[in-house]
Amino acid sequence: MVSSSSYSPALSSTAEPTHRFIWFTDDMLFHYQRCRRRVYLDSYGDPALKDPPSDYFVKLRQDSADHRQRILAEFGTLSRPTHERDDWDTAARATLQLMQAGAETIYRGTLVADGPEGVRFRSRPDVLMRQEGESWLGNWYYVPFNIKMGKKAKPEYQLVAAYSAYVLAEMQGVWPETSWLQLKEKRRAVDLERYVPKLQAALDDCLTDGGGILNLPQPPEVFISRSRCDMCPWLSHCYQEAIAQNHLSLLPGVTMARYPVLESLGITTVESLAMAKPYQLASDLNVEWPVTEKMIFQAQANWQGTAIARLHTNTFRLSPQDLPTTEIELYFDIEAAPDKDLIYLHGVLVVNNSTQEKTFHALLAESPEYEETAWFEFLALVDSYPNSPIYHFCPYEAQTVRRLGQLYGMAGMDVEKLLARFVDIHKRVVDAVALPVESYALKHLARWMGFEWRDQEANGAQSICWYDDWLTTGDRTYLNTILRYNEDDCQATYRVKDWLVKFAQPFWE
Ligand code: SF4
Repeated sequence: MVSSSSYSPALSSTAEPTHRFIWFTDDMLFHYQRCRRRVYLDSYGDPALKDPPSDYFVKLRQDSADHRQRILAEFGTLSRPTHERDDWDTAARATLQLMQAGAETIYRGTLVADGPEGVRFRSRPDVLMRQEGESWLGNWYYVPFNIKMGKKAKPEYQLVAAYSAYVLAEMQGVWPETSWLQLKEKRRAVDLERYVPKLQAALDDCLTDGGGILNLPQPPEVFISRSRCDMCPWLSHCYQEAIAQNHLSLLPGVTMARYPVLESLGITTVESLAMAKPYQLASDLNVEWPVTEKMIFQAQANWQGTAIARLHTNTFRLSPQDLPTTEIELYFDIEAAPDKDLIYLHGVLVVNNSTQEKTFHALLAESPEYEETAWFEFLALVDSYPNSPIYHFCPYEAQTVRRLGQLYGMAGMDVEKLLARFVDIHKRVVDAVALPVESYALKHLARWMGFEWRDQEANGAQSICWYDDWLTTGDRTYLNTILRYNEDDCQATYRVKDWLVKFAQPFWE
């Protein structure tokens, strides 16, 4: 148990007065865990530069709100502090009154505490739950309870839960023994012994005078990392800055862990990385040399603006068998709705290389209960071309076929024989070629090869929203848009394969 004697609620930040008054909130801490720059931009950035929320973001927010309401309903009646919107001092007073009155459960109480000069801490856990025990309030105290949509207790969730416990301790004079996290499928007690020191370090990093993020004259350096930036409202703004700087983070293979080492070696430009020595760099980065060789090829490709074959002892890494070309080939792409645990579309483009004819087949579950039907239609289609390779992009299609085979059966087909026909064209590209692209995602590759999607804004996340819209409205326009997008993905996969064969041919002659 974390007690008031084991931790002082006064965290060790020694921040002096800053240039403006700041509320430090749960959201700031949540985003800090993913990106230090975001904390700065959220506080001082021009909101006009933010991207509007995507449909997918709005859907996730709604799903999360629905999940929260379901959990809150289990509490029955909750006491609610009343206050004007954004009047945080009144909200904190109303919350404290409910706590002093001993309310069993309090919905979205506002907890506040003084931080370093110029900063006030604010936390709003979903529920405060009363427990028996001594505190400034009497012979009871409160424990915070936060509701999150995720399946796993991510570090950012736990950090915010620890923050709620800290600000709560300031208001009731005793640390709660834990802070609860309600996830999608389970409830988890956060280990405060472990997370309060992390919280302390995070607050120091944000607020310490002189070097703290919120005291910097400029935002921290941009670093584009697709996995964390994709859902960020500052992406367009940060991306423009990265482009203007020709920032190394735009180069595939330059990760957040590797970048500081590269900087310390004076490798801060694409050109300097293009001229690095793979063995020396491997030792500096503590990775195997093929990793650095790949990074250097990548830098050379971007620097020269051209495709570079990744030769191994003067030999091209792909043989004709790696890119089987037959009279009829299949190009396969799946659309899934992870929130429904559903595969709703198997798209297959059948390409006849003799006639140049291309036929798209959409094996679609028009509603979730038809997933199985669509699966067997897919099996029947691929079984009618038993000698054709099945090209796809990344491992997901093969993994899904194995999973659906286990779930519904294979209609007499052998899953291993079927999967032996699968060719992951993404793997073939990254094994053999460095291209002047920012990412080896299908969109980036196929666009570099001259392919364009009919719907510029279409993507997998948007497709999930369109499927939801189809289910709620019955408007077939949404389904047709999904099919057009999926067919274009299959066409793009074909374009990548076609390009790679043409690129490889001189090495095979
Ligand atoms: S776009 Fe990326 S770098 Fe910019 S603030 Fe968001 S997460 Fe940070």
